[in-house]
Amino acid sequence: MKNEAIVIIGGGHAAAQMCAGLAEAGAGSRTTLVCGEPMLPYQRPPLSKGFLKKMEEIAQLHRAEAWYADAGITVRLGEPAVRIDRERQVVGLRNGDEIAYGQLVLATGGRARLLADLPAGLANVATLRSAGDAQALRAQLNAFDSFTVVGGGFIGLEFAATARGLGKRVTVVESAPRLLARAVSPELSAHVLQVHRDAGIEIHLQARIDGFELADAGEDPGGNAGRLAAIVLDGARHPVDLLLLGIGALPETALAEAAGLECDNGIVVDEFMVTSDPAILAVGDCTSFPDIAGGRRLRLESVQNANDQARTAVATLTGARRPHNAVPWFWSEQGSLRLQMAGLPPAHAERHRRPGAKADSFSVFHYADGVLHCVESVNAPLDHMMARKLLEAGKSPEATQACDPAVPLKSLL
Ligand SMILES: Cc1cc2nc3c(=O)[nH]c(=O)nc-3n(C[C@H](O)[C@H](O)[C@H](O)COP(=O)(O)OP(=O)(O)OC[C@H]3O[C@@H](n4cnc5c(N)ncnc54)[C@H](O)[C@@H]3O)c2cc1C
Repeated sequence: MKNEAIVIIGGGHAAAQMCAGLAEAGAGSRTTLVCGEPMLPYQRPPLSKGFLKKMEEIAQLHRAEAWYADAGITVRLGEPAVRIDRERQVVGLRNGDEIAYGQLVLATGGRARLLADLPAGLANVATLRSAGDAQALRAQLNAFDSFTVVGGGFIGLEFAATARGLGKRVTVVESAPRLLARAVSPELSAHVLQVHRDAGIEIHLQARIDGFELADAGEDPGGNAGRLAAIVLDGARHPVDLLLLGIGALPETALAEAAGLECDNGIVVDEFMVTSDPAILAVGDCTSFPDIAGGRRLRLESVQNANDQARTAVATLTGARRPHNAVPWFWSEQGSLRLQMAGLPPAHAERHRRPGAKADSFSVFHYADGVLHCVESVNAPLDHMMARKLLEAGKSPEATQACDPAVPLKSLL
């Protein structure tokens, strides 16, 4: 490894894993972490789950302040990077400071997608990405009785299930014909829909928002941003106490684009996480990376992907070049549902269902040309673990065997 300064711009899961890997490789004292948020890297998944239920719950840090100090890592909190000068190899911070780098790592994550027709800054319209967002949302969960969620994706449904579990009235508005349409099979979508409807969540599919009715800014007791009074949903007025936008995330590529790095639905990296500038790497939600097995480019938003890409980037920086080729996996918790996905669903899959050990558990196995690509599990954590092992080992058992509950998946490894 060359003896030069490493600067990480980020402060999420990927950045935290970079710090851990570089410290382990003995490079902590050459590492600076530039974190836009005012706190050390923390766990994001609980923010749409347990964190919302308890006022006293605090964000869980990956590592305490003392760990960074012991590892020799310099941490700059609450000062986002605003500029990359590739010629001089320096990063400019918002307060005007400059930090020189030999190698730079972009771990800038994503930001919540917004609705173009909805004015920004309305007091009762929220997004959920950071601990600050979750804290604000938690306070509003206590203040209101009814919640409208736009978007039937993971974050929207996790929030909806949490709010419903607290006894709130919840409406989910989804423009697609099914929930989680971009991420899971129709079988899983149908099951998730049924469970949430049974729990009392009102769900509108193929819904159309025809307009927004704003309250007079002067009526807002908390400030002057104004409030959303109602949405026009499929032609009918639907009053709004609080609206959460859960319509996906966009990769945070502004810095990279301004610096002239190649971006295409994410910062373009190769299998070693190197961008179009050999001195700059990128990891996590902000990247568009090559899927070696699938021969396409991907952008994934998951903790596993952020961690695995960070491990690959550390290997690149320490000279142990190892291409990124991890089996992706993801989880989501929505009320009584624990969903776990291993692998990626192929475009045209043959799907087979394996019953789980309990009445409310099952897995869906996705095959293409007889090859196992993906397994979705509902309340079946052991089957998920075994499915990951099968995929990692490149095993493709016959669907008749894999979906026979009498055959333990372990025996197919
Ligand atoms: C509410 C919520 C729940 C989730 N639940 C799950 C789950 O159950 N399972 C799962 O696998 N995944 C889940 N995810 C997704 C997962 O958290 C992300 O995939 C993961 O956090 C990606 O890590 P990252 O480091 O790439 O980006 P992030 O964690 O988003 O971190 C990016 C960081 O970069 C900082 N940053 C951006 N620009 C700058 C700049 N210019 N200067 C300095 N800092 C900057 C941001 O402030 C942020 O702190 C969830 C995400 C959210 C928001």
